[in-house]
Amino acid sequence: MTQEKAYQIIELRSSIIGKDTRIKRALPTAKKRLIGAWCFLDHIGPTVFEKGGGLDIAPHPHTGLQTFTWMIAGKLTHTDSLGYKQVIEPEQVNLMTAGFGISHTEVTPADYAGPMHAVQLWIAQPEGCEPGEREGESNFEHYPEIPTKMEDGCEYRVLVGEFSSLVSPVRVATSLLGVDIRAPLQGTQVTLPLKKKFEHGLLLLKGEAVVDGQVMDEDHLIYWPAGQSELRLELKAGAHVLLIGGEPFEAPVIIWWNLVVRGQEEIEEAVRQWKSQDGRFGVVADYPGKPLMPPEIPGKLVASR
Ligand code: MN
Repeated sequence: MTQEKAYQIIELRSSIIGKDTRIKRALPTAKKRLIGAWCFLDHIGPTVFEKGGGLDIAPHPHTGLQTFTWMIAGKLTHTDSLGYKQVIEPEQVNLMTAGFGISHTEVTPADYAGPMHAVQLWIAQPEGCEPGEREGESNFEHYPEIPTKMEDGCEYRVLVGEFSSLVSPVRVATSLLGVDIRAPLQGTQVTLPLKKKFEHGLLLLKGEAVVDGQVMDEDHLIYWPAGQSELRLELKAGAHVLLIGGEPFEAPVIIWWNLVVRGQEEIEEAVRQWKSQDGRFGVVADYPGKPLMPPEIPGKLVASR
């Protein structure tokens, strides 16, 4: 008899962002749209940018989500339609809340040359009009410091939520977890305690690691449905992983282009409003190029988890 595995392996796909920056996308996939409210996960780098050759993402709109950027190495300038301009540096988080509508650019500073390694995730916003909810106000927050501790040879950085007595200051509207885990000096084995109400995902960002007997690699996200109470993680020296989790999201969503919505008509409306620049998504000042335009809307998009 074969024993069914508690986890599922999700293949990342390669994609291009900006003009020519190749990234690996872990969410959404056909198999798995969301993990908790996490509905998008791009692994950017590690790579090296030449001067003038970095990321350049022209103005584009967002609705119904928060963009969450965790910088591991490198620099990136965020500029948005609320007037925020913020360079994010290593060990920092940028959190942009779209609510009903915002637009922004993400550009490597013109004089920057050097390493680039980051993850960008999106967090689906829950129903409602309050701050943090999907029809609420837009906002931008920069978090220059993230709580960190070293234990059993492992460095933990709690990006979102609560883990091992550390609490992240990052404000989100649903029960969510994000932890950056590294073994900087030597190999180690640790047991990660999990909340059984949460579903979880684990992504290898660098090096070698094994979780519950499964060898990890950078092309696969490992997913556990709710009910799991711990994970046994072995990290080789230099290994680096990202743990995400959350309570299964309240409703099926459509994730299409830069929009997270509940129904097809909301996509059509958002696209119409972005194309006509009617003010819903505002304007990003100081960008020398044209805004991004969406691809053709597919015939019928179906909301799913
Ligand atoms: Mn964006």
